[in-house]
Amino acid sequence: MSFSQDVKKEIIAREAGGSCCAVAAAYGFACFGKYFDTRGVVLHTEQIAVAQYAKKMFARAGVAGKIYVKGSEESRVYEFAVKEPGEVRRMLALFGHTGEEPSLRINSRNFTCEHCVSAFVAAAFLCCGTITNPQREYNLEFLSVRYNLILDFEALLMGHGFAPKHTRRKGSNVLYLKASEQIEDLLTFMGASGAALEIMNLKVYKDFRNKANRITNCETANIDKTVSASGQTLEAIAYLKKRGAFETLPAPLREAAALREQNPDLSLKELAGLVRPPLSKSGLSHRMKKLEQTAESLKERTRNG
Ligand SMILES: [Zn+2]
Repeated sequence: MSFSQDVKKEIIAREAGGSCCAVAAAYGFACFGKYFDTRGVVLHTEQIAVAQYAKKMFARAGVAGKIYVKGSEESRVYEFAVKEPGEVRRMLALFGHTGEEPSLRINSRNFTCEHCVSAFVAAAFLCCGTITNPQREYNLEFLSVRYNLILDFEALLMGHGFAPKHTRRKGSNVLYLKASEQIEDLLTFMGASGAALEIMNLKVYKDFRNKANRITNCETANIDKTVSASGQTLEAIAYLKKRGAFETLPAPLREAAALREQNPDLSLKELAGLVRPPLSKSGLSHRMKKLEQTAESLKERTRNG
């Protein structure tokens, strides 16, 4: 599975929160799908989970749509569509569109609470977004044939602290981010914080690799040890958070976790020096082990249960 698909899976698993956010997500699917006018909405995707998620968001917004399976066995395409005239009318009224606009613009009245824009951007990503594997290069982009829509989308993202750039490629408008911090922030914004964490970890590792090249082999070995130990703990923390088990942990463990998250590149000894009141390296190491064990036994239980 590609990194893009992983991100999409994570977004879908989180699911937009309130009913206002479901409307915003459905609106995102409408804007960035194949068409959105008086005929209704049609969205094509290679991932059935995306079509199912679109259907669910529209249903929560009170609009019924259907999924059709198209294409051949080798290149399946899943279509989500709202075509029934009554549903189309209700949808257009809900989104505040006539369906006859000569050029599609984003109607910001579809954003009610502070999370609505996140749900909208996430739906846009599910429709027309891709992210390159961060091992290779940092690039996250949205593609649309609609020029004004992309301009509005750019302004929307800029209003939320992002600095995307746009260009044209083969008749399409491309809105893209290349700075790794921006990509991490946008992933988190869309509800894919696991993918954001993966990029951060990878960066820490790359950084260390670069530094390591400049120092002795002996030190390199130690740094590799620190990085892999830190990575292991971070992975355990992320898992506990994802499964909702983090908040139930005792305070000392949560403190140790926060410290590790804020300082992914420090050795245990350096990290122990930051604990107030002071803690020995072995005391802190014990807490990190405990975090990893808790995550491990939770995984075990999930596998068996
Ligand atoms: Zn909302």
